Amino acid sequence: MSVRTIILPYMVEHGELCLGELIEMEVLLNRREEPKLLGVINPTTEAAPYERSRQLYEQARVYMPSGASSNVRVHLHEPFPILFKKGEGPRVWDVDGNSYIDYLMAYGALILGHKHPKIIAAIQKQLQDGTMFGTTTELEIEVAKMVANAVPCAEMVNFANTGTEATMEAIRIARAVTGKDKLIKFEGHYHGHHDSVLFSVDAPSPVSGLEASPTRLAYFPGIPDEVSKTVIVAPWNNIAALERILKKYSSDVAAIITEPVMANQGVIPPEPEYLKHLRELTTKYDVLLIFDEVLTGFRVARGGAQELYGVTPDIACFAKALGGGAPVAAVAGKRDLMSMIGPGRIGFGGTYNANPLSLAASKATLETLVENDGEAFRRMADLGSKLRDGLASKFKEAGYQAVVNAVGPLLSIYFTKLRKVSTYRQSTQCDQEKYKRFRDEMLKHGVYMHPDGLERISLSAVHTEREIEQTLVAAEESLKALRTQPLS
Ligand code: PMP
Repeated sequence: MSVRTIILPYMVEHGELCLGELIEMEVLLNRREEPKLLGVINPTTEAAPYERSRQLYEQARVYMPSGASSNVRVHLHEPFPILFKKGEGPRVWDVDGNSYIDYLMAYGALILGHKHPKIIAAIQKQLQDGTMFGTTTELEIEVAKMVANAVPCAEMVNFANTGTEATMEAIRIARAVTGKDKLIKFEGHYHGHHDSVLFSVDAPSPVSGLEASPTRLAYFPGIPDEVSKTVIVAPWNNIAALERILKKYSSDVAAIITEPVMANQGVIPPEPEYLKHLRELTTKYDVLLIFDEVLTGFRVARGGAQELYGVTPDIACFAKALGGGAPVAAVAGKRDLMSMIGPGRIGFGGTYNANPLSLAASKATLETLVENDGEAFRRMADLGSKLRDGLASKFKEAGYQAVVNAVGPLLSIYFTKLRKVSTYRQSTQCDQEKYKRFRDEMLKHGVYMHPDGLERISLSAVHTEREIEQTLVAAEESLKALRTQPLS
């Protein structure tokens, strides 16, 4: 007799179980017996529901600093991170077999969810021809054309691999073209992991200075002081404060870099007309405007935030959704700037730049997103609003004070007595501890969100009404469960 244990998504009606939970079944191959239900693999019913994650994480810490290759993967994951093993559409399974509706979506990269068949097919097809060549390819021209057709500022495009590389290259282009060294960045904005932008990303309040003129604070040790002198930190969503800075320093400033939606401190939309005023100021003071659309690109609209808000920057950076889960990034901009790149002029380089496997994924992603006249963008925005309104009313019904912000499919929850969160400093006043307790309870109800509330909830184009409804049921149940340990 051959015995095998398989794990199936729980699809059948079964009173005490929820959709999305897993059942483990023993299947007696070549026999006619009904499969035997061994038990529900679910955090609420298992004694040690995350034991395999715990064990693997212990091993990981032996070989990798903090047990991860990116700090955010362990940041606030107490007592240890949950390790994922497989995904399917909007759902993910951890190494213990627990299943979740996935709102991490690989930090927003998986715009078409896990294992989208068109992406898998495109990568498989490319594999037949070769993984990389180190020359320009026809595929690269096709994807550059697609980006140029979609994005207002994109007259020319260059490809890299990560958001970090894209913003680094964009800033270098700005400095080279203008012949000026200084960069203005905003407090609370994140632009990747290179020296020029790692200031006041997450500035602790006792040392961060006045809101209108924030103190520049290196995010990590190891960033040379000389680099810090080239960076000016400004408050976002505050045009008057920015103009004061530009009046004083514009003759030395090459560019202003901004996330058009502040999306690394929860999700904070620009105030009405803010981006328009930002564009006007940069033109007035002869400073380039760089939009870091690593999160907003190919997500909040086909042409990114610049299409949504009707403001065109000089240069824009893309990654994450552009590759649908494969490592690819793009720097796109006006022809007069971009055409300065080339041998003997401005450098742009990388062995893996425009690698065909990633571009195959990118082409499939962009083609899928624009099907039916870009219906996916409207659907994602609609689901984002439904989830925002649904969560806000669950908090209200249960008597908790919270603000839920959303821009398209990017959302965040702030536990706060404030009626609105529209600045970085307001976001830092929110109660992270409350968020964490809510999040941990949601986990038990099959919903995965990052334990840091200032990371986003990311919807994908394959989340549906069903996931939203289940999430709202989970939120109601979680808030009920928290009554025994009140949130406020
Ligand atoms: N810019 C923004 C707005 C981001 O959110 C990120 C990553 N979260 C980056 C740049 C850096 O991208 P990557 O992690 O691909 O280097």
